[in-house]
Amino acid sequence: MVVKINITVIGTGYVGLVTGTCFSDLGNRVYCVDIDENKINALKKGIIPIYEPDLEKLVVKNYEKENIIFTTELEISLTNSNICFICVGTPASDDGEADLTAVFEIAKNIGKLMNHDMIVVTKSTVPVGTGDKIKSIISKELKDRGVEYGFEVVSNPEFLKEGTAVKDSMRPDRVIIGSDNDKAIAILKELYAPYVKNHERFIIMDIKSAEMSKYASNAMLATRISFMNEIANICEKTGADVNQVRLGVGSDARIGYSFLYAGCGYGGSCFPKDVKALIKTGENVGYTPKILKEVERINQNQKYVIINKIKKHFGDDLTGLKFAVWGLSFKPGTDDMREAPSIVIINEILKAGGSVKTYDPKSMELSKTILPKDNVEYVSKRDQVLDNCDALILVTEWNEFKSPDFNKIAKTLKSPVIFDGRNQYDDEVLSKFGIKYYRIGR
Ligand code: NAD
Repeated sequence: MVVKINITVIGTGYVGLVTGTCFSDLGNRVYCVDIDENKINALKKGIIPIYEPDLEKLVVKNYEKENIIFTTELEISLTNSNICFICVGTPASDDGEADLTAVFEIAKNIGKLMNHDMIVVTKSTVPVGTGDKIKSIISKELKDRGVEYGFEVVSNPEFLKEGTAVKDSMRPDRVIIGSDNDKAIAILKELYAPYVKNHERFIIMDIKSAEMSKYASNAMLATRISFMNEIANICEKTGADVNQVRLGVGSDARIGYSFLYAGCGYGGSCFPKDVKALIKTGENVGYTPKILKEVERINQNQKYVIINKIKKHFGDDLTGLKFAVWGLSFKPGTDDMREAPSIVIINEILKAGGSVKTYDPKSMELSKTILPKDNVEYVSKRDQVLDNCDALILVTEWNEFKSPDFNKIAKTLKSPVIFDGRNQYDDEVLSKFGIKYYRIGR
């Protein structure tokens, strides 16, 4: 029999909302807490602040069943729960270090408000050693109040991917539980059990190793991308083709094909900030992480590869030229614009005097708040973008951009040229349509 658990999830962003909703779908009662009152009010009306496949219907279903409660009231939530998940953001500070203000504020509030024993689970990505700090903060608050409640701080890093977050949460590759407390481990295992049928997917370790595992995973994935971008840049200068090299390399079972795509750089809310934070963690203990610094530097430069190709084709002055841009979000399947390469590419076009017409299936509303207003036009259909444009730039490889009508592109663009930041098309096919084709690593 599956035991139902009362849970508090603090922070209703990509991680908190998906985590809370998936736990609620198992019949648990989940208090989803956020400081953003507008967000909570919208959620109560079934308005989901982010785009994530399958999320809306799950939220609405479980809200109607009263399995989810959306609230700004941490005290009531904690009173009714025995376990609470910290899922707030940990953005990069100016110097690259993870900004833990929200995490520590919550730890303080938990210490101030808890009125029975509690398991405090950190799902936010936090630097190694943060669990100990959370423990001290809660202990101090309890001491100041003169009360003695038992609590355990557990690290349970999140590995969901935006765009497939619900699926990833319901079928995780692994659930890492960082704790040395048998009771806390048993409760977390019980909570996750329906989603982790094969119990070998639980990995139990000490709290610091769990915290580090998250950074090491993201840094490894970012490294593979920057590595392949470096290979692509060498390919361009030597006549090799990175698409073919990828097949040659990925076919080695020890390497595999995942995360070996050259492109116009990685973005998003995790890889950039987590690589920076891990560099900082190393530096704080007197170690210089040389590989990670290069991973970061290569990625910054990679966002300019497409603009350099555009300038090589049209010249440095893009005045009077209009560019059709397909895709704005940092990757397909999400509306997230954090550190999206599209921001750099579009700003560089504008800086050089050009203008932009763009379409993205999910992130246009958000983009309007991020990109400059002048000389950026948004349209609601893929092919509408092409009208009166001089060239097409593919930035985000949404499915609907993968096999477009090349005949239409060739006829509609003023000078049929495509700059492909995601290596989606076939050089030979495009040349048959008379389209000049630039991509990465060729
Ligand atoms: P997010 O910015 O989408 O959401 C964070 C939420 O926390 C916001 O709704 C914000 O209003 C709320 N919040 C901030 N301070 C608060 C407070 N004091 N009390 C209550 N709520 C508060 O962030 P996210 O993308 O969900 O990421 C959360 C954490 O999970 C980060 O550490 C991130 O690195 C990690 N993570 C993210 C992903 C991802 O794909 N987004 C994947 C794995 C891990």
